[in-house]
Amino acid sequence: MEGHNFERLKNHILTLSESSEFESAVKEWSLHSIEISEEMDKCPCGQDIKEHCYIENSINGRITHVGNVCINRFMGISTGTLFDGLKRIKSDASANPNEALIEYAQKSGYLYKDEYKFLITTMRKRSLSEKQKAWKQKINRRILEAIVVVKRTHKK
Ligand SMILES: [Zn+2]
Repeated sequence: MEGHNFERLKNHILTLSESSEFESAVKEWSLHSIEISEEMDKCPCGQDIKEHCYIENSINGRITHVGNVCINRFMGISTGTLFDGLKRIKSDASANPNEALIEYAQKSGYLYKDEYKFLITTMRKRSLSEKQKAWKQKINRRILEAIVVVKRTHKK
């Protein structure tokens, strides 16, 4: 694939893994968190990216990042419709977060107590009351503030 240098990605992952075989090394990693940056950055494969997936090694606790394409294609970790959901609320402040985004926000501690239930039950609702709309905008803003950054942050 143009732009995605698998050998470079593989070397990057192997350096940080316990296993020296890529197939078993990838099994050590799982999704830690995501970020969307305003500025371009690079995936370890060399590709320019704005959608960052931080992955954590379950054995040695190391954290690194890869792009949204490489995590799916080479690491075999699915981010499902998470980024689609994010892009939707980024372009429309009162849009409904999809299930992948709601689950992610809940898991990451971005939601207050009744919000998870509210988001799930109104996930496919086309018309919200003014009050519900305002609530959803407030939640969406909080989610975006946590995920959208100017520059990718460095996590340890
Ligand atoms: Zn990549």
